[in-house]
Amino acid sequence: MSQMLIPNTVTEACQMLSSGNRVACAGATNLYVDREKGKYLDRDIVSLHRLKELSGIREEKDGWHIGSLTTFDLIEDVFRGQGSMDALAEAASLVGGPQIRNTGTIGGNTCNGVTSADSASTLHAYGIHQRIYEGTGTNGYPSGGNFD
Ligand SMILES: Cc1cc2nc3c(=O)[nH]c(=O)nc-3n(C[C@H](O)[C@H](O)[C@H](O)COP(=O)(O)OP(=O)(O)OC[C@H]3O[C@@H](n4cnc5c(N)ncnc54)[C@H](O)[C@@H]3O)c2cc1C
Repeated sequence: MSQMLIPNTVTEACQMLSSGNRVACAGATNLYVDREKGKYLDRDIVSLHRLKELSGIREEKDGWHIGSLTTFDLIEDVFRGQGSMDALAEAASLVGGPQIRNTGTIGGNTCNGVTSADSASTLHAYGIHQRIYEGTGTNGYPSGGNFD
């Protein structure tokens, strides 16, 4: 029987995910459907919802930083009418219905590994840099893998 683990920090989450048979959970819109289909039933779930440092959007000198737990609703709210970022607002507005956009995250959309994911191709077109947390370290990568 699988259990739910709730880390308080990114480091703790990385440690939990690097041991045992576990899967990360953000908005659960995909994970829930996968489990209904019988996938991941043997895995413990590591819920990311307390990791505030992975939430939200901020503008810094080097550009926009978008946390992996940022929902599509927030992305549309922040970037609609923001000139060059408007395409990302448009992509976010096309995902599922209102419930999915209110809960689903940009990190879940890209980490899910589906090439048709609405935000993935758009982010790739922007040439984003992704921050990947591994163990206790952080690495930056150009678009192509999972990101924070
Ligand atoms: C009814 C319905 C309609 C949908 N419509 C669309 C659509 O129109 N367009 C579209 O692109 N998608 C659509 N989706 C898919 C889904 O809603 C999105 O992919 C959503 O962004 C997933 O985000 P989530 O936070 O719910 O991810 P979750 O379900 O929590 O996780 C999805 C996967 O990503 C992994 N993951 C999540 N966050 C992280 C992280 N920070 N680090 C590492 N791994 C992580 C999880 O382990 C899991 O494998 C739809 C889904 C449903 C159920």
